[in-house]
Amino acid sequence: ERKAALAAATGPGATSDGHKVPLLANVGGPADVPAAVEAGAEGVGLFRTEFLFLDDSKNAPSEEKQVEAYRQVLEAFPEGRVVVRVLDAGADKPLDFLTPSDEPNPALGVRGLRTLLDHPDVLRTQLTALAKAAEGLPVYLEVMAPMVADRTDAKAFADACREAGLQAKFGAMVEIPSAALRARSILQEVEFLSLGTNDLAQYTFAADRQVGAVSRLQDPWQPALLDLVAISAEAAKAEGKSCGVCGEAASDPLLACVLTGLGVTSLSMGAASLPYVRATLAKHTLAQCERAASAARAADTAEEARLAAQAVLSGE
Ligand code: PEP
Ligand code: MG
Repeated sequence: ERKAALAAATGPGATSDGHKVPLLANVGGPADVPAAVEAGAEGVGLFRTEFLFLDDSKNAPSEEKQVEAYRQVLEAFPEGRVVVRVLDAGADKPLDFLTPSDEPNPALGVRGLRTLLDHPDVLRTQLTALAKAAEGLPVYLEVMAPMVADRTDAKAFADACREAGLQAKFGAMVEIPSAALRARSILQEVEFLSLGTNDLAQYTFAADRQVGAVSRLQDPWQPALLDLVAISAEAAKAEGKSCGVCGEAASDPLLACVLTGLGVTSLSMGAASLPYVRATLAKHTLAQCERAASAARAADTAEEARLAAQAVLSGE
């Protein structure tokens, strides 16, 4: 019954005192949309587009095929937000025809936006397909680039979006510590930030996300990761722009409260986590989330950070 009660509460995300935190879904293609709608997602915070590129190991998908797939997702969220991430190839998501095969460290090589800037035709087709897919639909389309390292990257992406005639907000994912540290500079070029905490943890701790032996360092409660989230959220606030989280961190209900307290403006996660995050957020005020965030950042380890936040949020 507890599960049913949680699932029934499908209103917009907010703290108990009404501070709104839109709860969005991560989707990997049109097949994930029904579960997101059912869980009451207010939109999509991360539409991973790699699935389109997996069928053919030699060529990018045609513009028509892309338009069709994007439209299916955009149509499912009338009046909602849909944040599409352009192709994130390389490292843990290699593609034969785009990813260099001779790099000693693929995670530190040509991947994400770097790959697209080396293949401007692939980026152009994707952006044009998105523009066509959104035509005439009452959706708020946002498009973001993975693996943005600095302002030069952000400008190159924004220029490509403008050249494709895209009527959308352009954003940058914060997945590299340099992007968090210089978030204000990146925000001179783009309109929003989205923290990819999976890669941000990988690059902050020099701990490969695919290597189980270093998983201790992949824990999103690590205070150093919380510091980078705080820096990014503060930069966005200073620029009057939004800063969401779309990595795994957002799906932990307690951590979702901490992220809210750090100033994150939306949370995106797998549909299955939405009811739990919504219910936990609704039990705490923004001030309590902020106190939990301060307590977590004052800790020295991930475990201590979790316990400190838990103590603040349960002792009320
Ligand atoms: C991330 O890195 O946190 C992220 C959301 O993107 P992906 O997991 O697809 O790399
Ligand atoms: Mg990533």
